[in-house]
Amino acid sequence: MSNLTKTVKLHARLKTKKEATKILGLIGDSIEHDTALRNVSTERDSTPFKVLISTMLSARTRDPVTEAASARLFEFFPDSKSLSGARSSRISKLIYPVSFYQVKAKRIISVAKIIEKDYGGKTPSKMDELLELPGVGRKTANCVLVYAYNTPAIPVDVHVHRISNRIGLVSTRTPEETEQELSRIYEEKYWLAVNELFVSFGQTVCKPIVPRCGICRVKAYCNYYENLVRTGESPVSA
Ligand code: SF4
Repeated sequence: MSNLTKTVKLHARLKTKKEATKILGLIGDSIEHDTALRNVSTERDSTPFKVLISTMLSARTRDPVTEAASARLFEFFPDSKSLSGARSSRISKLIYPVSFYQVKAKRIISVAKIIEKDYGGKTPSKMDELLELPGVGRKTANCVLVYAYNTPAIPVDVHVHRISNRIGLVSTRTPEETEQELSRIYEEKYWLAVNELFVSFGQTVCKPIVPRCGICRVKAYCNYYENLVRTGESPVSA
């Protein structure tokens, strides 16, 4: 049985809205770097198209790899017009070593073609339109809303899903359920911040395999930590 499963059984009280807000603040105090998407979205020549393509590249890929691949790609193909006419072998070479680079190369060219043909080169800003693009799911669409258009939404990736369940903000099985529950527990004014804070926190403190509970500012509120203490299992790592 995994520690996460054990945690839910041992101590399953979910956090109140007030506690959830406090926890968000503590996570904000803990993080020391911006995510790749924040960096891409705040660059001087950033566009919604670049945010969309970087988000697609980022799936199952570490942030530094995503950022470097995005920079190489956008140097030659900065918009849907140029990317829609590219050969996939060229794009594969530019974005390597992002995971599934050959599949992603074909997908981002397809997306560029659709944006060029159906949207006149303007990346859609509505959830239902984004979801119609090949390879774009709820997480990617929500990232575009948040990072490109400043539209309140909560993108839920593996970090957001894991951390929310460990702490006891939610008790869910899928990222979609987590998105629903987080949208309920957090007022809309916090939505723009949730993904950025949780992802950065998950990369540096509440890591997937070995969470750094010893140094974590959230531990006083964390179900996972409380259950480790209760059962006598020491926190995993400082
Ligand atoms: S105490 Fe541990 S499990 Fe809980 S949020 Fe912090 S690092 Fe994650």
